Amino acid sequence: KLYNQIQDLKGNIRVYCRVRPFLSGQASSSSSIARMEERTITIIPPTKYGKDGSKSFTFNKVFGPAATQGEVFSDMQPLIRSVLDGFNVCIFAYGQTGSGKTYTMSGPDVLKEESIGVNYRALNDLFNLQAQRKGTINYEISVQMIEIYNEQVRDLLQDKGNRRLEIRNTSLKGLAVPDASLVPVTSTSDVVELMNQGQKNRAVGSTAINDRSSRSHSCLTVHVQGRDMTSGATLRGCMHLVDLAGSERVEKSEVVGDRLKEALYINKSLSALGDVIASLALKNSHVPYRNSKLTQLLQDSLGGQAKTLMFVHVSPEPEAVNETISTLKFAERVA
Ligand code: ADP
Ligand code: MG
Repeated sequence: KLYNQIQDLKGNIRVYCRVRPFLSGQASSSSSIARMEERTITIIPPTKYGKDGSKSFTFNKVFGPAATQGEVFSDMQPLIRSVLDGFNVCIFAYGQTGSGKTYTMSGPDVLKEESIGVNYRALNDLFNLQAQRKGTINYEISVQMIEIYNEQVRDLLQDKGNRRLEIRNTSLKGLAVPDASLVPVTSTSDVVELMNQGQKNRAVGSTAINDRSSRSHSCLTVHVQGRDMTSGATLRGCMHLVDLAGSERVEKSEVVGDRLKEALYINKSLSALGDVIASLALKNSHVPYRNSKLTQLLQDSLGGQAKTLMFVHVSPEPEAVNETISTLKFAERVA
């Protein structure tokens, strides 16, 4: 109860955590370093790695390895639906590469209904509500899909999308990147088609050894415009669904050239994001939005009346313990 009240006072920032299962072919779950309760996760470092014993972290919600995509979504559903009431919403998937960010957001297989991720479920749900409210409030829904790689913004819905885009917050239309394609959508199949196109464009420039998707931020933005058929009033809301670049710390001594540059950019933008959310949680008067493209992009959707969900992902393996703890510390700071 008290915890809830404190959370309310802190405003519209929520933090969830998800621990993925061991993958097939890996060791059994008995060696998981994580113990989960509804809101608390305890990391028990194996003696080989741990110097300071177990650590607990408390968030708004903790999902264990058995949580289904449907369960995860239904917890987020009220937040997602609020976009149709004119709220701005940001959902971030944070965590080291391989921890399950893309699994949560997109899902491993678009063709299997039970495995589809938050992105598809969210749009599905918005389409259903759109249909229910038709005649009372009429909505138009459109999407943008962009990528931020090395602090450059690229349109993922344009095949010749290598052009760099500017972030210019045009408060008039509510578009942070007015030059990126804005595509009206009316059905789930529209969305599936667009996301496939986006994924294909995202792969451009990736080499066989380096999976670019883990080193760029991808952002699916859903713009909603509603018109109240009685009063004629209009409302706007937008929702950013962000699959962040992998948060793993790369030893500067271990990489050179392009890899080093990428690592520095990722590090910079993830810390800028952490700084922004932490200062919003503390209700600081100065919020450092200008420090990265990511926080500039989301400026209108972070803070104020906007709702934020930081969804951190961790792996259960002993080998990942240091990254897991640093992910949970990041999350604790913004919670
Ligand atoms: P990330 O996007 O953080 O790099 P992925 O989402 O690609 O990580 O997940 C890494 C691997 O783990 C993939 O093979 C994915 O299918 C699997 N995986 C992640 N989360 C889950 C989960 N909750 N249940 C089952 N498999 C998962
Ligand atoms: Mg991924």
